Amino acid sequence: AQDRYAGLRDLPATGTCGTTIQLYMNAGLMADLPSLEGSGAEGVGLFRTELQFLIRNHVPRRAELAGLYRRVLDNAQGKPVHFRTLDIGSDKVLPYMKPQDEPNPAMGWRAIRVGLDKRGILRMQVQALIRASVGRPLHVMFPFVADITEYEAAYRILMQEMAREQRLGHEMPSDIRVGAMLETPSLAYAPKKFFEMCDFISVGGNDLKQFFFAADRENERVRRRYDTLSTSFLALLRQIIARCDEARVPLSFCGEDAGRPIEALTFAALGFRRLSMRPASIGPVKHLIRRVDLTELRAVIDEAQESGLSSIRGPVTAWLARQ
Ligand code: PEP
Ligand code: MG
Repeated sequence: AQDRYAGLRDLPATGTCGTTIQLYMNAGLMADLPSLEGSGAEGVGLFRTELQFLIRNHVPRRAELAGLYRRVLDNAQGKPVHFRTLDIGSDKVLPYMKPQDEPNPAMGWRAIRVGLDKRGILRMQVQALIRASVGRPLHVMFPFVADITEYEAAYRILMQEMAREQRLGHEMPSDIRVGAMLETPSLAYAPKKFFEMCDFISVGGNDLKQFFFAADRENERVRRRYDTLSTSFLALLRQIIARCDEARVPLSFCGEDAGRPIEALTFAALGFRRLSMRPASIGPVKHLIRRVDLTELRAVIDEAQESGLSSIRGPVTAWLARQ
């Protein structure tokens, strides 16, 4: 299916209004990297680092990880790769960690919470990322941050490791950009300083939506019950966009919804300038963005939102059919 859109590969996702949306891809394996070229993605917006930890029966060694991350960056050929530090816990259980008997693992000891409690693993991963990025830019993203103090603590660890590498006389990345995944509603209301500390923010829509509606993303009975395009969820997204605009932080959306055409158009119209999705979605999303006027769509969305509808899906779908 990607071939249908091959002609678009090197063209920008620019609407007829002139607004350009950067399209990135999500990845998690070396094997995903060839899609960077094939899909025309501008970079990797989310590199999930869990898999290398899940497939072994011991904590991977720093040199192993550094080698892998280096190969990822080599394959990306200068396009940015946003590495997300380990997001384990919840459903992703490491074979060599004591199983946690938690009643609500998705809201339990996971992601940055584990990283800050087991600092050795986070430090080791960060060291591997720094060593893999010698002479080129490093983008690090912390998962499931719920509070500014967690971000500050993780940020401090990263800076300490940078300083340590420098002290050891090692060559350094040419640049470092640090950001957070926004996956809990609380972070949309964090102090301004949090936004100012971020070089970028990426909405993890899968988790954000699950916590906003209190609907388990793994539970078939409830996971599709609430519409991503509901006016209440979009109100939260507008809040996030406003906070990021105020602090001038680049904002992206990297949950599964970013790859769904109507959702992607809506996010772009609302103000997201970056979307990160599975590679196969880039062609169809780009095709659609290039056909529409995002300013006009924005007016349709605003009007639908003000009219008191529970979801804007109907009006947006109807508008799209007329394009
Ligand atoms: C998300 O929550 O939207 C996300 C991108 O992260 P993951 O799906 O890995 O939890
Ligand atoms: Mg998530």
